Amino acid sequence: MGDEYGEYWTQVIYKRKEKLFNPIRQNYGHIQALKQNLQEYPELNYVPIIVFSINADLKIKTNTRVIYTVKLLKTIKEFTAETITEQQKEEIYSKLLALNVRDKEVRTQHVEGIHKKKADVANQVSANICPKCGGELIMRKGKYGDFTGCKNYPKCRFTISN
Ligand SMILES: [Zn+2]
Repeated sequence: MGDEYGEYWTQVIYKRKEKLFNPIRQNYGHIQALKQNLQEYPELNYVPIIVFSINADLKIKTNTRVIYTVKLLKTIKEFTAETITEQQKEEIYSKLLALNVRDKEVRTQHVEGIHKKKADVANQVSANICPKCGGELIMRKGKYGDFTGCKNYPKCRFTISN
């Protein structure tokens, strides 16, 4: 559920409500990025289309096309006016492809960074070292039972929930 301008939309999946970033605003950001990368083609016409998998129950008030996957091809085919030549189309395609490959590399590095960080934390914890401050991890008694926490509490509030 959502509209054009709010920061979030809500999505109900199996009766559970979830907040998601307004895809129209995200899409706007993507189009800005495309324009940035395709500055030498000012004649390009950008048409935002938001596509949802069939699971989503759409109740959306907007001028932007918000559709289900099954309608995607049909929706694209509504746009028949040709504003660029076949050669420009090829150029743009290879340019976007190259950008996408570069983006993927950056994303992979980012994800690897996250994995590495998690592994580091796990290694430190298994050696009873607090990954936050380097202090010693000790067993503590809490209201709800024993838990592992940092010896430097309350200065450092690192704990492990068992
Ligand atoms: Zn600590």
